[in-house]
Amino acid sequence: MHGRMMEQPLTLDAILRRARTVFGDREVVSRRADGALHRTTYGQLAARVDRLMGALQALGVRPGDRVATFAWNGHRHLELYFAVPCLGAVLHTVNVRLAPEQIAYIVQHAGDAVLCVDRALVPALLAAAPRLPAGLRYVVLDDDGRGADAGLPGALDYEAWLAQAPPPAAAVPLDEHQAAGLCYTSGTTGEPKGVLYSHRSTVLHAFGCGMVDSLGVAQRDTVLPVVPMFHVNAWGLPYAAALVGARLVLPGAHLGGDALAGLIEAERVTFAAGVPTVWNLVLQSLRRHPRDVSSLRRLVFGGAPTPRALVEQWQHEFGVPVTHAWGMTETSPVGACTHAGSTGLAPDDPADITLRGRPGRPVPGLEARIVGDDGRELPWDGQTAGELCVRGPWVASGYFGHATHEAFPADGWFRTGDVATIDPGGAIAITDRKKDLIKSRGEWISSTALENAALLHPGVLEAAVVARPDPLRDEAPVLFVVPRDAAAPPPPADLVAHLAASFPRWQLPRREDVRLVDAIPKTSVGKIDKKLLRRRLRDG
Ligand code: ADP
Repeated sequence: MHGRMMEQPLTLDAILRRARTVFGDREVVSRRADGALHRTTYGQLAARVDRLMGALQALGVRPGDRVATFAWNGHRHLELYFAVPCLGAVLHTVNVRLAPEQIAYIVQHAGDAVLCVDRALVPALLAAAPRLPAGLRYVVLDDDGRGADAGLPGALDYEAWLAQAPPPAAAVPLDEHQAAGLCYTSGTTGEPKGVLYSHRSTVLHAFGCGMVDSLGVAQRDTVLPVVPMFHVNAWGLPYAAALVGARLVLPGAHLGGDALAGLIEAERVTFAAGVPTVWNLVLQSLRRHPRDVSSLRRLVFGGAPTPRALVEQWQHEFGVPVTHAWGMTETSPVGACTHAGSTGLAPDDPADITLRGRPGRPVPGLEARIVGDDGRELPWDGQTAGELCVRGPWVASGYFGHATHEAFPADGWFRTGDVATIDPGGAIAITDRKKDLIKSRGEWISSTALENAALLHPGVLEAAVVARPDPLRDEAPVLFVVPRDAAAPPPPADLVAHLAASFPRWQLPRREDVRLVDAIPKTSVGKIDKKLLRRRLRDG
């Protein structure tokens, strides 16, 4: 027997309608290229989305076409986030920090018809331009409406284009299963692969982001997505904020520690999200220039292992509770989450801080399990580690343009490539990535565990551990350390002795394998670039 409920499709036009009608006067603030703040409202933004839809249609964009963006977090990018999918077309957010060959590869692979680029990013795009398809139409997003002379062949200026746009044709009928967005993995572990989000998965993910035991984005929030809108839809925050009516603050290209700390203070940000390296920069900035960040209710760390030391420093020095999220491009991305309050302990309780160094339970809507090399499910005992697998309505079922892929086996569980334990209560702890694990005499060493422990040493600012081949041990851990004070770096013997308090001898790096460095390389999305560190080790 069928239920008798309305078949209202889960499509993004519903989120836009709600933002326009229910939250029309809620503010959207974005930082212009010159650093000044631009202020608008969801209502005004929705009116511009209408014009943009007309402009895109006049340019020949039809349902199913791919429209690319190459832009920082700003209000024009947000307009594209709604106009493109609401036309039935697919928003392809291109990572602006990729190398020119990778940019050319994914624009071609996606078959983009139009590319909308921030004026300041035109030089980065020009480096890839000779390899971009000849028929690609360019639109330049420029605060001063002078994008047409930015140096791209035949480029339109976004503002002039919008000003002349015809009204959009009648609303395009949308099917909840049709594609809405396309994002390529950042390729930390291989060539970029495209994940094609549907309207339905994006809307359900936005609902998921609003759940208290997920990210918990709420109407009262002022949300600062530092995570770029070119990376997994800025963790879905633009859609979640519009759905719940949260005020949005978009930081543009100004992503240094001081700029972000200043923005949090000035706009009374309550909710901010980014990778751990960003929050380390902001923490260092706050130590240098104290500011009032007491408005922060949730500071979300995600996308890479969250060092316990950072959770502790934010809590004790600034009273800011860290929320820890795990996810991947393939999981839209929010997959697991722990926040102060979800554990039932006080936020400054050391046990709570330890728990918040882990991703915790899968967010409502997703399921997780771990499997061994033979594919068999492993116990939830908090000890046994296996490959983390997830499933749910915002998890990809394959890659764009690949008929099959080993990450999507027939059992219906996506294989994440992450190694994890699950405790009897269902809480996930990531121990490593399959490719980052270190194998010493047949036994695994977790690089993440060594990094976390190294960060607890007072002389350490940043730490990264990768494997080097070793004739006796198969692989041996090498610890890269950025000292807190370059003039007085901690002696390697001290660091090894510090680690020896928590690890058996065979897991420790040798003194010669502790490398003091000025900086640790980061990937295009700000994570520690272990592929590059390994290459540097190999090349001496
Ligand atoms: P890429 O795989 O190209 O870096 P993603 O942004 O999709 O692109 O990265 C997802 C990966 O990031 C996960 O598979 C995992 O290894 C890592 N990651 C994300 N969140 C966390 C977390 N909270 N703790 C540990 N690792 C994480």
